[in-house]
Amino acid sequence: MENPAANPADTCTFCKIVRGELPSTIVYEDDTVLAFEDINPVVPVHTLVIPKTHYQSAAADVPEDLLGHVFSAATKVAAIKGVDKTGYRLLTNIGEDGRQTVLHLHVHVLGGTQLSIGMSPAD
Ligand code: AMP
Ligand code: ZN
Repeated sequence: MENPAANPADTCTFCKIVRGELPSTIVYEDDTVLAFEDINPVVPVHTLVIPKTHYQSAAADVPEDLLGHVFSAATKVAAIKGVDKTGYRLLTNIGEDGRQTVLHLHVHVLGGTQLSIGMSPAD
């Protein structure tokens, strides 16, 4: 049975990446954020930016300065990946309807091709 007192960071995939328990291809790192390549890229540039501390999503009472830092780092990642001039999309999914699958706040940096306009409901 699940232990309600368990720390979600213990089993969280992205916390395991931060701790070096799972492999990743790191693109950018500082004291508070880590950026690494998405394991299943959907476009030529698909990098994830996360805070090193565990927050379930952008809606989980994340300190404003940390949330701002994650987005600021995402623009640095876009420059590192060479899409700052051509444009890109920053995306963070929240909860079930937002199709969030990893419950650790992350911003997708998507680019390297022109993206669909789509923001529509699922079929
Ligand atoms: P989301 O649907 O917004 O929660 O996106 C989660 C993203 O994490 C997906 O694009 C996955 O491909 C990616 N992902 C899941 N596990 C890993 C991992 N071990 N390393 C890198 N990316 C991952
Ligand atoms: Zn986590």
